[in-house]
Amino acid sequence: MSYLVLARKWRPRKFSDMIGQAHVIRALCNALDSNRLHHAYLFTGTRGVGKTTIARLFAKSVNCEQGIGSQPCGTCSACREIDEGRFVDLIEVDAASRARVDETRDLMDNVQYAPARGRYKVYLIDEVHMFSNHSFNALLKTLEEPPPHVKFLLATTDPKKLPITVLSRCLQFNLSRIPATEIEAQLQRILDAEGIGYDLASVRAIAKAADGSDRDALSLLDQAISYSGGTLTGEQVVTMLGSIRVEDVHALIEALAADEARPLIDRARRLAEYQPDYAGVLGELLSTLQRIAVCQVLGAAAAEEVEDDPVVRQLAGKISPQDCQLYYQIGLLGLRDLPFAPDPRVGFEMTLLRMLAFRPVTQFPSAGGTPGAKQPQATSPPANGSQSAAGKISVAKAAPVASAVPKTAPVPAPATTLATTAIEPTAEHWPALIEKMGLTGLVRELAKRCAWTSFGAGELCLAVDPQFVYSKATETRLADALRAQLGASVRVQFRISAEAAPDTPIARDAAERRERLRQAEQALEQDEVVRALQADFGASIEEVTVK
Ligand SMILES: [Zn+2]
Repeated sequence: MSYLVLARKWRPRKFSDMIGQAHVIRALCNALDSNRLHHAYLFTGTRGVGKTTIARLFAKSVNCEQGIGSQPCGTCSACREIDEGRFVDLIEVDAASRARVDETRDLMDNVQYAPARGRYKVYLIDEVHMFSNHSFNALLKTLEEPPPHVKFLLATTDPKKLPITVLSRCLQFNLSRIPATEIEAQLQRILDAEGIGYDLASVRAIAKAADGSDRDALSLLDQAISYSGGTLTGEQVVTMLGSIRVEDVHALIEALAADEARPLIDRARRLAEYQPDYAGVLGELLSTLQRIAVCQVLGAAAAEEVEDDPVVRQLAGKISPQDCQLYYQIGLLGLRDLPFAPDPRVGFEMTLLRMLAFRPVTQFPSAGGTPGAKQPQATSPPANGSQSAAGKISVAKAAPVASAVPKTAPVPAPATTLATTAIEPTAEHWPALIEKMGLTGLVRELAKRCAWTSFGAGELCLAVDPQFVYSKATETRLADALRAQLGASVRVQFRISAEAAPDTPIARDAAERRERLRQAEQALEQDEVVRALQADFGASIEEVTVK
């Protein structure tokens, strides 16, 4: 199995297959479906985040023989030729390759001619900031009076180098790095579908190394598959990538938690045998501490919020939140000072020893595990079905400030009794209904991105978050699941919400998390150890680390 095989096989064929870039795709799909197409789009962003893929999908959407729209058929000859990379009216230009300077001149001259095969000639000009002045002038002339049969997709990693005259004539989109969690999920889907075994550590390591690029992730995945010759393990992947094993970092934190110098030094020495990049090791240590801190603050809810890593959860129960913050602060300083150490290994060991030495003497309850874990999340509706609690943020107890949280009203039992009571479900029952349906994957995601608009006269109306991209098949599956709960004859209507941020369960969860984060920050500010640190070391709370 070669890289080309996997990358080609899993290249998105539909907009709904793409991971990341939901805002861009939503905007493009809307434009395609309402046939309000701009003649020039500019995509900015780093490499490997989907520019070429978007261009191909766009070319299919405007040239599909079945008509213009965001869901090209994929089977007509235009669609197939584009998928196979041999469509004459999709012209891809890499402005960075010098050999093409003369070609770009010819290219701009050719823009005037009608497309040979399709409705539109689609030009994808990558790294457009590398154009020569002559090419820019030709491009500008075309953009000022665009022929009706031409669409330009310009892409650049450096938009500052583009003439303002070009910039002002393009609709600009910023393509962001794809979050590691989305890449992880994508890798797991591929491995599952290919029937290749793997452990969580292996996909996590690949997703991390891919650094926001779907293309790099696929390429690394292919390398890992041929490297492992079968089942992927975290250890193999880490060796392949030349990075540090997460287990080694976990062991260091374990030794810190046990407050014992001997195992800590032993661990550090064993690590030294691999001659690792110590800045990388410290970085990994810091990011693990961050995950532990998130786990401690969010408790059970951390499963979906961070990564569902049992070892991190265990560690979160072994060290106190104060120690975790302290280790992070010391680690950060250690990383900053590493270049000044006589040699990196010395700097690294001193940082670890400082973590031990400055550990505040506080008792942390070993029984009971993570503070905040398994706290009930009061999202249930009021029993009388009134609107009183609608839209209010319900507060889960965050450990240190639990007693300070005012309770608004007695919280009734979760609405798991939906089917046993004869009441008509309302918007209030929506989160509970989602849980009850036992949905998974994209269908669950779609449900959580829907706001309940109305239910009555055999019709349920849902408003979908306009940022969310999903397929018709997902919609159908959700409608089926809803009918199974509400009655076989119920019609389920999905509408794209006119509001930018509809009141969906996901939006409510996010509001709830923000509230908990606020409380955690407050708790930290009031914390004695943190205060002492601030006084003695000039330490400051870094807001980004409080999650
Ligand atoms: Zn087609």
